[in-house]
Order: sequence, then C-alpha cells, then structure tokens
Amino acid sequence: MKALIATLLLAACAAGEAPAQPQAPATANARTSAHAPAPISLTLHCAGAFTQGGVGLCRTAPGAQIYVDGVASGEADGNGWAVIGFNREHDASGAIEARLNGATASQTVAIAPRQFDIQRVNGLPQQTVTPTDPAIIARIQREAAVKNAAFQSLAPIEGWLDGFVRPIDMNVGVVTGAWGNQRILNGVPSSPHFGYDIAAPIGTPVHAPASGVVTLAQTDTFYEGGLVFIDHGQGLTTMYLHMSRVDVHVGDRVTQGQVIGAVGDRGRATGPHLCWRMKWRDRQLDPSVAMSALNDARAQLAGAR
Ligand SMILES: [Zn+2]
Repeated sequence: MKALIATLLLAACAAGEAPAQPQAPATANARTSAHAPAPISLTLHCAGAFTQGGVGLCRTAPGAQIYVDGVASGEADGNGWAVIGFNREHDASGAIEARLNGATASQTVAIAPRQFDIQRVNGLPQQTVTPTDPAIIARIQREAAVKNAAFQSLAPIEGWLDGFVRPIDMNVGVVTGAWGNQRILNGVPSSPHFGYDIAAPIGTPVHAPASGVVTLAQTDTFYEGGLVFIDHGQGLTTMYLHMSRVDVHVGDRVTQGQVIGAVGDRGRATGPHLCWRMKWRDRQLDPSVAMSALNDARAQLAGAR
C-alpha cells in the first residue's frame, strides 16, 4: 500500500511539473490585460548545420521571440522563420527556445565538435601582427569603431532565407584557409581565423551570396584592404576582405549573385584571395557551411509550423 501511494505521488508530481511553466505566464497575462491573446500551443522546429560555427533555421509562430542558449536573439518573421547560429567554442548541446504570449517551445540540438588545424603564416609585415606605431594603432581603432557600428545593423530584410551561393564562381578559386584555424602569425599565437579563404586571381568578381543591404564599403582598411559587409537580416552579416575593387556603397540593396567587387591582396594578406566571413549577432560563423545548410534547412522546414 505504501509503495502504491509513493508511486501515485511521484506520478502526480511528474504530471504537475511539466505543464506548469508554460501555463503560468499565460495566466498572468490574461489577468493583466483583457485583450491578451488566448494561450496558444507553440511549436518549434529547427534544422541546419548543428556544428561549431554552424548555421540553421527555425520555424515557429510568426513574431515568436527566439532565445539561443538563453540569449534573446530577435523574433521569427511573419511566416515564423528565424535564423540561428553556433560559435566556434560552442559546447556539445545547443538550446533553442521560442516564446509567444506566455507559451514556450524548445528544442535541444547536439552541436558536433570540429577539429581546427594550427595554421602558421609567415612573412607578414610586423606592424600588421604586433603594431607599435601610434599612427597605425589609432587607425586600427578608428576602423574597429566603423566595423562595430556596421555590425549593429539589423536591416528588415530576409536575404538569409534565399540560401547562399558561392561568392566566387565554382570553377575559379582554391580554398587555402579553412575557417576556425588556430593561427600563428610570424610566430605569434593569434586569434582563430574566422574566415574561409578562397585564393583567386586579382580582379576575380566577388558575388553577393544572398540579397542584403551593404553596411560597410571601404576601399582601404589597414587589415582588410577593400572591405564590404552585407547585412542579410535577422543579425546575419557576411564580410568580404582584401578586395582590390569595391563596387558598392553603404546603403545599397544587393541581390543574390550581384557583383560587389573583386578579389585582391590588400591589407594583411600574403597573396590574392577572398577572405569570406560571416557573423550572426555576436557569433562568428563559418560561411562555407551556410551554402548548403540554409537551403537544406529551408526545404526541411517548408511544411513545419
Ligand atoms: Zn582569411
């Protein structure tokens, strides 16, 4: 008999715990406003490249607030789509949550670890590795402020839903630097390489991988030479470094495949290549992963709501 009561109590506890969290805020809402929407049952489905540096999409209710690893990360668009990403140092589990009108839905995804090589780059001008010249340091700081301001852009556009195409034509260019490599520059351990390097002749056209708004377009920055940022919406920005020519201006709307400039060897580079980078909010992501991940995720989630 004792055992039976204990079993019943346990079952009651378990049953009581599960729905308590999503329901409580909905009740509070209803009390504070007569016009509060009725509690809804929220769904959340996410798909994509769940790896360190990976990117994916989620589908939930339109306007639901998205939290990734507990961090508020914007809201789903009018059709319930949202883009998400995971940084290089991410641990083995990613937590995604959608919240709307007191209801929550969550999904935990396994984040696959990646191996990052050590890459030694020698022969760089020493002032680009350990700058000491006050004029150079001041220039680096000025340019960092311009870049940081551009990263704050949250353009109301949806280029991230286009899927990504390669910024250099398929039959041109050799990948010379994987994303995430631990770098040793002129013998000095440096931050990881957050770019995907494609070596190609100077003048090779660089295409926008998806539509967006240009948030930075400079022809001569200290580290990056010709530099372009494209905001694809929902905090997803791609960057193009070392360009010999920049064909766009801040504020330009670009479409997928549009030429934005040309490959160069300017800034801190040992030869002509495009260093392609991607950031989602404050997370550095691997743009090469986006080329298949965003398309695949969109196809997988097309019917999900
Ligand atoms: Zn690079």
